[in-house]
Amino acid sequence: MKELAYAQAGTVADALAAMRRHPGAMYLAGGTTVVDLLREGVFTPEVVVDIGRLPLREVQVGRDVTTIGALVPNSDLAWNPAIKAMFPALSQALLSGASGQIRNMATTGGNLLQRTRCPYYRELTAACNRRSPGTGCAALDGFNRSHAILGGSDHCIATHPSDFAVALTALDARVQVLGAEGEREIPITAFYLQPGDTPARETVLEPGELILGVRLPHSESARHSHYVKVRDRQSFEFALASAAVAAEVSEGVWRNVRVALGGVATVPWRARTAEQTLEGRRPSAALFTAAAEGELAGARPRRHNAFKVPLLRQTLNAALSGLADLA
Ligand code: SF4
Repeated sequence: MKELAYAQAGTVADALAAMRRHPGAMYLAGGTTVVDLLREGVFTPEVVVDIGRLPLREVQVGRDVTTIGALVPNSDLAWNPAIKAMFPALSQALLSGASGQIRNMATTGGNLLQRTRCPYYRELTAACNRRSPGTGCAALDGFNRSHAILGGSDHCIATHPSDFAVALTALDARVQVLGAEGEREIPITAFYLQPGDTPARETVLEPGELILGVRLPHSESARHSHYVKVRDRQSFEFALASAAVAAEVSEGVWRNVRVALGGVATVPWRARTAEQTLEGRRPSAALFTAAAEGELAGARPRRHNAFKVPLLRQTLNAALSGLADLA
């Protein structure tokens, strides 16, 4: 592991100033992603800026919006009674991710910035455009069982690993960030970038920008939300396919339908085609199948991951059936 300098920020202003003084420095919070990638030599900054003591650990429930501080641990958030009542899919997604020990350390902001679990990304001798731009993509002709069928390019087909971000995507979350140009709020659907021909740029964050938190609008859809995850083993594994779904139910008809998919796409995938199919309709098995088929029309399976097409159909069906049962 390369030597690096460590700086601790006591305030948000300190953190931003440290990033200005040390271009290329990285923020460190719970460390559940960053420390691994530093050890493995994937990240090679000169300086890490520890933001673990910043006052960003509160969940504030307002009249119309709930704000979650960037340093709220995943476990605290998952078991927060207000989150469980108002955003059940969010709690379910968090509890389906990682282990209890990791959830105790992992933070809200860090979860959003998790890096892909593509094995070639962490293998320094492998071609990987995301880690080393311009070197190629070993996964295209390599072992690509875990890779994306939606949103990929000829430069990268890595999936985004976060369960939390999938639920946030279905719940219309906004990410609050602060940087040299001031504060801004980014809809989560605009926060992540599909790989295109620049897979190393994963989000719209500018260098040095700090995530302050996540804001979630209150809605009947959000209260009536559900998350389903399918993985190779129940104890601790990333999604092969997942679905976060939400809808208001009025006289048996679904309105304000929200669908997001995980484990199958290069970014947390807002499934607009499926939403349009479901909107204003009465739930039924045939409707769920039609929603999945419409979303899957653009799928591009690779050599080892064609199984994700029927798996996603079944996962979405299970999530929508679960939602219907809640009503
Ligand atoms: Fe790298 Fe993406 Fe290819 Fe994986 S899929 S090897 S992360 S470029």
